[in-house]
Amino acid sequence: MATIINGKEVAAKVREEVRQECVRLGEMGITPGLAVIIVGDDPASRVYVNNKKKACEEVGFISEEYALPAETTQEELLALIDRLNSKPDIDGILCQLPLPKHLDEKAVIHAIDPSKDVDAFHPSNVGKIMIGDYDFLPCTPAGVMELIHSAGIEVSGKNCVVIGRSNIVGKPMAMLLLHENATVTICHSRTRNLKEICAAADILVAAVGKPKFVTADMVKDGAVVLDVGINRDENGKLCGDVDFDAVAPKASFITPVPGGVGPMTIAMLMKNTLKAATLH
Ligand code: NAD
Repeated sequence: MATIINGKEVAAKVREEVRQECVRLGEMGITPGLAVIIVGDDPASRVYVNNKKKACEEVGFISEEYALPAETTQEELLALIDRLNSKPDIDGILCQLPLPKHLDEKAVIHAIDPSKDVDAFHPSNVGKIMIGDYDFLPCTPAGVMELIHSAGIEVSGKNCVVIGRSNIVGKPMAMLLLHENATVTICHSRTRNLKEICAAADILVAAVGKPKFVTADMVKDGAVVLDVGINRDENGKLCGDVDFDAVAPKASFITPVPGGVGPMTIAMLMKNTLKAATLH
């Protein structure tokens, strides 16, 4: 049976480190500040934004929320970002995605000052990650790496398979594993022989967005399995991309959902905001 990697515990440790560092910065007259923009009233986004605000308060950051109505225009949103870009007490700017359909997410991501881009979505930060010389790492993949490190798992030379190629999870995840000298395969919706490729992985990261997509026959005995997915099963219960009950007996390490990768994302956001404060 696999060792379960407890994301809640690791995230709490990261947040505590950030809190202590925040106290230290405070002695130098610096208080990190995060501005979170939410447009419209998507319930999931509201939960995420509330959690981010709460995490900011816990670690001692200034947190500002800008809740805009769904009918906000592109010009209004860009004007707000412009204002926050030059606001001295704001170190990080996060615009909660997805945005209402009439707004251009790409333009919004491009508008955020890269030195305040604590999500690391701006092309300049993405490019820096590519060459391995970065200020910020995207929160979810960085959280996965932190979980791997916390469990003392060696990445170098391992066969790593990432299922999913999104800009926010799959692609940067592959890059971070590559930085640590893994041999990385990225799988996606057009991949042939997915099962065989996954079954050869020493470390398997699932970021697909499909409940219980990774079944036991896709996992090698003793593999490390990291589940990024956040889905609802047929009974409306929260579940990951991995069929946890079937896969756990085969894996050496596994992350649960909830309580695995999820809590890490916000912890890494706090870490990025702290970093941003030291850059300004
Ligand atoms: P996405 O929809 O942008 O990407 C999904 C990827 O899965 C795509 O690249 C696609 O090619 C691939 N895919 C789809 N069907 C496939 C198939 N049959 N075989 C192989 N690959 C297939 O999703 P995303 O934004 O990368 O998120 C993935 C999951 O992670 C979602 O469940 C999301 O909710 C979750 N997520 C969790 C966190 C967190 O904090 N834990 C953060 C971001 C995303």
